[in-house]
Amino acid sequence: MDERPLILANGTVITMDDRIGDLTTGDIFVRGGRIESVAPVIEPPAGAEVIDATGMIVLPGLVDTHRHTWQAPLRGIAADWTLGQYMTGLHLGLSRLFRPEDTYVGNLLGAVEALDSGITTLLDWSHNVNTPEHTDAAVAALAESGIRAIFAHGGGADMYQVPSHVPHDQDVRRVRARYFSSDDQLVTMAMALRGPQFATLDITEGDLALARDLGVRVTMHVGDGEWGRSRPVARMADRGLLGPDVTYVHCNTLADDELALIAASGGTASIAPDIEMQMGHGWPATGRLLQAGIRPSLSIDTCVSNGGHLWGTMRVTVACQRALDNQVPGASDRPAVSLTSRDVLSFATIDGARACGLDHKIGSLTPGKQADIITLRGDSLTLAPVNNPIGQLVYAAHPGLVDTVLVAGRVVKRGGKLCDGADVRARALATVVRNGLMERAAKTEDLADARTGGGWQPAPLAAAQ
Ligand SMILES: [Zn+2]
Repeated sequence: MDERPLILANGTVITMDDRIGDLTTGDIFVRGGRIESVAPVIEPPAGAEVIDATGMIVLPGLVDTHRHTWQAPLRGIAADWTLGQYMTGLHLGLSRLFRPEDTYVGNLLGAVEALDSGITTLLDWSHNVNTPEHTDAAVAALAESGIRAIFAHGGGADMYQVPSHVPHDQDVRRVRARYFSSDDQLVTMAMALRGPQFATLDITEGDLALARDLGVRVTMHVGDGEWGRSRPVARMADRGLLGPDVTYVHCNTLADDELALIAASGGTASIAPDIEMQMGHGWPATGRLLQAGIRPSLSIDTCVSNGGHLWGTMRVTVACQRALDNQVPGASDRPAVSLTSRDVLSFATIDGARACGLDHKIGSLTPGKQADIITLRGDSLTLAPVNNPIGQLVYAAHPGLVDTVLVAGRVVKRGGKLCDGADVRARALATVVRNGLMERAAKTEDLADARTGGGWQPAPLAAAQ
């Protein structure tokens, strides 16, 4: 934590705190890693660093509530795959070739990429930690990257043989004790459970009891594609397993009564519209979730096809919901759209913080909260003149516009450049890891045709079983 006080001065401030609102020009005073005040003008105290934010849009750091970060060195490889091909080619395929040092590099690359793009909190949905050494490597990379992270322990891909009768890996107890004995850290912990689509309901019940015994939040895929039509949430509700500590990932094919059950339990949702539309999960549930009283958070999901920044995801989220809304006859005569740019930025900030159980710490520029703050170049060719800051962020922003990134008051990106060289290191290591994975795949019977270049089409799931 950087102890030198700091002022971000003279920016257009989007606080995402309804009581404070937006400031056409304003200052933010940061001390001891926290936001001390937000006001039109703040006189810098002696010794404070002043970062000139003139021409910048200043907002809370973004929150990605679900990313399989370990996959980053294989980015792009699944761009033209179905969900079934992803399962055989990657999740149950190339995943087996990851050594702990590969997982480390994947998490480092993914976390640094996220930071560079303005994501200051990342939930790492880590479901390829087949050994304790893989887990240790995944946690080490998150800690080293400087990002605020939630390491969601998901065990190994071997646990995804459907329907699994294998309980969640008990190594999670060691992980809680060794790395996460305090929840007041930059990297904290959750459990990434398979849930009733992948494991039996008995196993799901036991896994949830383990998470609750450890006092950690749970994140779980439900409602993606045909698998999601098996009423996973209703079946969990029958056993009294729902709770405010669970984030339901995707939700596309859940029935309306299941969304109501989630809402009644106080649960949260993470949607990944890019991947959901790409791989066949069903229409993003944005509007249906809102109707049920649940404000979704946003996520990148599989970074082997989807790009890693939430600006694109915000755009896809709003475009898809508007398209769905506009299918209704007479839609063009409505007085207003149903989903606003501000809603979508809220999904990517304060609603994401809620889904991680961190809204008391992050998600808005509220005095007392941690100073996770980003600035974007409103004076850029892309955004100037700024006429509607939130609308322009949602429709036009990209990582190249992210100028400054603070995590808990520490400047990790400045003047458009990451500060500690982790980006250079992560890229170099990732190329080595990628090459090693492809060399080992060539010697593996069911992965011998794996290759980069865009032409590899793994056998679909049904044919592989
Ligand atoms: Zn996922």
